[in-house]
Amino acid sequence: MFADGHTPAPNSERRLFRLSAAANDGGGDMGEVNQFGLSREIPEPVKRQVRQRCAFGCVLCGCAIIDYHHFDPPFRDATEHRPEAIALLCPLHHRLIESGLDCADLGNALKHPYARQQGFARTPFDFRGGIPPITIGGALFVGSQRVIVVGDEMILGFDAPEAKGLPGLLSARFYDHSGARVAVEIARNEFRSNSRNWDVEQSGNRLTIRTGPRGIGLQFSIRGNAVLAIEHLNMVCRGYTFRVSGESHGFKIILPSGERWVTFAPGATVAACYTAIHG
Ligand SMILES: [Zn+2]
Repeated sequence: MFADGHTPAPNSERRLFRLSAAANDGGGDMGEVNQFGLSREIPEPVKRQVRQRCAFGCVLCGCAIIDYHHFDPPFRDATEHRPEAIALLCPLHHRLIESGLDCADLGNALKHPYARQQGFARTPFDFRGGIPPITIGGALFVGSQRVIVVGDEMILGFDAPEAKGLPGLLSARFYDHSGARVAVEIARNEFRSNSRNWDVEQSGNRLTIRTGPRGIGLQFSIRGNAVLAIEHLNMVCRGYTFRVSGESHGFKIILPSGERWVTFAPGATVAACYTAIHG
């Protein structure tokens, strides 16, 4: 269950958020293949199985920035990439386990991944440059405290900062295509992906939430000057459909009747106002 209302401890020290490329294990000193000629490149279907089983986060702490760790046997002795022999670990836990400083029971953690117990995998954002511009389907939203509001629920916007003078904290609730549950939540700069998503894939600075083999529920990237760019979105909230299909098709909102209500064209700038639906 996605823990609505869960209040995270305030991050006393925020890191600059970067979606680093998911790394395979090995410290970079093992070359491209191990002694058995096994490539470090894990096939995508195997990676997906590992992500699904580990609920898209480090099995020990639930962090959504992940490495793939071969543990049974270690990569140097592996002859194949077996999904059940690979664990998701965050870069810190990966380093600690590989260096023997953390003797966590991986077998047990794999049976009860942290993110599945919590209901979500998470990672902190930090937009220390201030409130980031947001593009949705190529339309630019700037200077708004609230970008999308449905009824009394803020779907995308900024909450008050923790102290005066600090930038507001990004908050968002992205529902799935059925409108039944929140697939991704950003709660005051803390990113959480529901452990019941079908797949959550991070590649470079881009995050993709898939609803099935061909369906993308949400895809966004963090760019250069901390721009949050929503590239794909297929969500329903209170009967309204919110759709983004790439950055050249704009951002469409469709009424429960099926009628198109509004389209924000790609290249348009929406300044200091917001989309409110009184549903
Ligand atoms: Zn971890």
